[in-house]
Amino acid sequence: MRTKSRFHLPALLPFLFLLAACGSGDQSRNLEMVAGGGGIDDAVLANADADDANWLTYGRTYKEQRHSPLTEINEETVARLGLAWSYDVGNVRGLEGTPLVVDGVMYATSAWSVLHAIDARTGEQLWTHDPRVDRGHARYACCDVVNRGAAFYRGKVYTATLDGRIVAVAAESGETVWETQTTPKGEAYTITGAPRIADGRVLIGNGGAEFGVRGYVSAYDAQTGELDWRVYTVPGNPADGFEAEALEAAAETWSGEWWKAGGGGTAWDAIVYDPELDMVYIGVGNGSPWYARLRNPGGGGGDNLYLSSILAVRASDGEYVWHYQTTPGDNWDYTATQPLMLAELEINGRERRVIMQAPKNGFFYVIDRETGEFLSGTSYAEISWATGMGDDGRPIENPAARDLAGGVFVQPGPNGAHNWHPMSYNANTGLVYFPVYDHSFVHRVNDAWSYDPRTYNIGLDFKNRTADAGEDVTATGRLIAWDPVAGREVWRVEQPLPVSGGTLSTSGNLVFQGRADGTLSAYRATDGEVLWEFQHETGIAAPPITYSVDGTQYVAVLSGWGGPEVLFNSPLGQGNVAPSRVLAFALDGSASLPPPQPPFPPIEAPRFQLAASAADVDAGRDLYAPNCMRCHGADVVNSGATPDLRRSTTAIHESFADIVLGGLREPLGMPAFDDLLNAEDVRLIQAYVLARARESAGGN
Ligand code: CA
Repeated sequence: MRTKSRFHLPALLPFLFLLAACGSGDQSRNLEMVAGGGGIDDAVLANADADDANWLTYGRTYKEQRHSPLTEINEETVARLGLAWSYDVGNVRGLEGTPLVVDGVMYATSAWSVLHAIDARTGEQLWTHDPRVDRGHARYACCDVVNRGAAFYRGKVYTATLDGRIVAVAAESGETVWETQTTPKGEAYTITGAPRIADGRVLIGNGGAEFGVRGYVSAYDAQTGELDWRVYTVPGNPADGFEAEALEAAAETWSGEWWKAGGGGTAWDAIVYDPELDMVYIGVGNGSPWYARLRNPGGGGGDNLYLSSILAVRASDGEYVWHYQTTPGDNWDYTATQPLMLAELEINGRERRVIMQAPKNGFFYVIDRETGEFLSGTSYAEISWATGMGDDGRPIENPAARDLAGGVFVQPGPNGAHNWHPMSYNANTGLVYFPVYDHSFVHRVNDAWSYDPRTYNIGLDFKNRTADAGEDVTATGRLIAWDPVAGREVWRVEQPLPVSGGTLSTSGNLVFQGRADGTLSAYRATDGEVLWEFQHETGIAAPPITYSVDGTQYVAVLSGWGGPEVLFNSPLGQGNVAPSRVLAFALDGSASLPPPQPPFPPIEAPRFQLAASAADVDAGRDLYAPNCMRCHGADVVNSGATPDLRRSTTAIHESFADIVLGGLREPLGMPAFDDLLNAEDVRLIQAYVLARARESAGGN
């Protein structure tokens, strides 16, 4: 095993003083910053499992098992669990984050990358940090303006912003210490994932493969914000030279001029540090565009490394170590960005250091994390794209799902059989707990696609795209307990709506999970029996956490319903959009919530008149789908996270072109589209919106 020095502080002291001098001009403030969680260093993070009071990293420990040893709340006492406090984040946007808790202070992130410091005992706000994300950048967010969390290290909280910055914030004061743009400014990259800490570095990836970008992960010096190393996940243009040998090897698996659309492979969620092996495991995403034959035109093909792979690199320098590709030649948006979890498992009589993942493609993988050796891959959901798994770890494909001739329903759809929702592992039960959904999606390839840096570049044919034509409306979902050694499901709880939230496991023999209708539940870890439930008005997708302050154990969760399924009006997005809050629970908690929001009134027929033919309305639908649907929903149906355009007032309709082309509402999150649409396009889209409003009037 590699050994290395963990003591970077002496070398960095001059920088600390420099920061004090340039940042605030006040050296005493800098000393205060070190006091606020300044003791959270590499040794503390490496032993986070023993620190049961705090929740110090995204997955609680570097192994990201999301299991807490706390037992005050357990299968006997959980019936007494009640609301201890709630904290309103001030909007109704989606919440996907894992809050951190450090010495009685909670750090939670919300929409538009806003960071909140909250007293973890009372819910009182200590400070907020708003990075003032460029609202126009929402145009490049495939999957809502959400944020999945922060990292904490030596008195600083690290967050990444939707518009591609990594920000170090003083834990004590909420002031910015340093800030770095980690993506090319103005390009279609976004960040929604949580940074991770690795031996003095802050690691961050990015998203944007739906728009046509090239994925990479960057490691910054945590104290100074200086770039240490950067790993690209897919090869660039060979004429520019390759950044690494591993990329030269990867280029052999691509053909055509794939680099023009970036290639994809964004690492937008799972990035896991392994101090035992000095490795970082990166979950790599789908291709740009989605379809292999568009990425490799002219009958080429190949596996397109390292798309849809787990990529292991050395933490100290970013050098390639191994990879395992879950979906060779990805053709269905089957990212392998889903949560990565490290564990020690006994397999065939031998203890193995493993990495586990349940990526979108529907197989649960157990991989040897020292070598990348495939140990097992077993389907955990109904799938149609593959008929099985070869002994070599290569899936056996269904040829119809590869060809996609004429438009084919493929299961699972691009949301995956499991997505970013974190899973948890209880070593006592030997079970991994995660949410699963069964659904399918019509893939119809637009063979006339060509790369356009201003917009979506997935290569899907959007013609006639409506909710009914696009997705399987019989989508279902469940919470499952999975035995990773035996490769089988041990218990399941069917959920009323398809998508449910990430999970928390505790030594109280409990699993906590929220769901789309706002119910937070505690299940017995061994058999899935419901032991406790709480009803919030707002859907829950984020994973619960647990911590203790002054000897009292709390369970907390961010409740806010959003994400791509919701904005798209996908059958998977059903759930309750209402005020987004942090909820914290303790035994005998008796706090109450504000009264729930009233339901939306029925849609009224718009009074605004626009001369338009039936052909105009059809043309408007085909413009709406690729340009507007991502935020305002298929068929112009929207659950309230963003404006439901069918409810647009006469005043809105009168300024429709000023909003869409002129950016009139950009401060509220509606970008301008004047580079992509003209006045006639806007008239057609408006005609379609008005037609949908008239169709919906009286009903909903
Ligand atoms: Ca994707």
